[in-house]
Formats: sequence, C-alpha cells, structure tokens
Amino acid sequence: MTDDALHQLYLVRADNIMPVMLAAEAGNVDAYYVMKAVKLALEQTEKAQFNCMCLDCSTKFGPKSRPPPAFAIWIPLKTPTEKFQVIAHPICARCANRDDLMNAIFKFSRKAWPKSKPMFVEHPQWAD
Ligand SMILES: [Zn+2]
Repeated sequence: MTDDALHQLYLVRADNIMPVMLAAEAGNVDAYYVMKAVKLALEQTEKAQFNCMCLDCSTKFGPKSRPPPAFAIWIPLKTPTEKFQVIAHPICARCANRDDLMNAIFKFSRKAWPKSKPMFVEHPQWAD
C-alpha cells in the first residue's frame, strides 16, 4: 500500500454485520472486501500465538478472549489492475462505546498512513 493512497474507512460493529453480509452476497464489492477483512481479522485473533491489540488501548485479543465487537476497516481506492490490501483493525468493547472513537480511528489512520486521506463512509448504502 502506498503512503499517499486514499482510503475508504468503515466502522463495522459485530452486532450489525448482517446487512454487510447480505450486500456482499448480493455482489457489492466494498461490502465483500469488508466481510473478507473482518473474517481474516477474526481468524487471526483466534490463532494461538496471535496477540492482537485494540486500535486505541492495550486490550489484547486471542483465542481465549471474546471476539472483538467492532472493526475499523480501510479499503484503498483502487485501480482495477493494482493489487491492494484491505486492513481490518479490531476494537475492544470499551473503546467501541467511547464518544471519541472516530477521533481515535482517524488518529490511528494518520499514524499508519501519514499521507493518506481516509474518507469515512458513515452510512454505506448497504448498511440500511
Ligand atoms: Zn480498546
């Protein structure tokens, strides 16, 4: 992923994943990538040696912890020929309910990709 890439940024909560799943099955490309990233992140947090931390605190996820209740997902704006990487970062239950969660996500984003300008998709059409 290049530093100056533009990203679409999604916040997905585990208790509201069904519309995303349905949209992905219906062929919505972004919903498909969001689901793929969430599945991959869940698999990784379930692996024995994998200690994945929350986006904005030191809560760790592992095989013995409950699955993360939310994920921040970055999808690079793509060109059809270019390989790109979708990132899903788990968020713990405490942070998922914080009022300043979006600020934390943008802060993380600036740190990970200093030149990127994430565009937060607040209400994707498939989230209805
Ligand atoms: Zn947290």
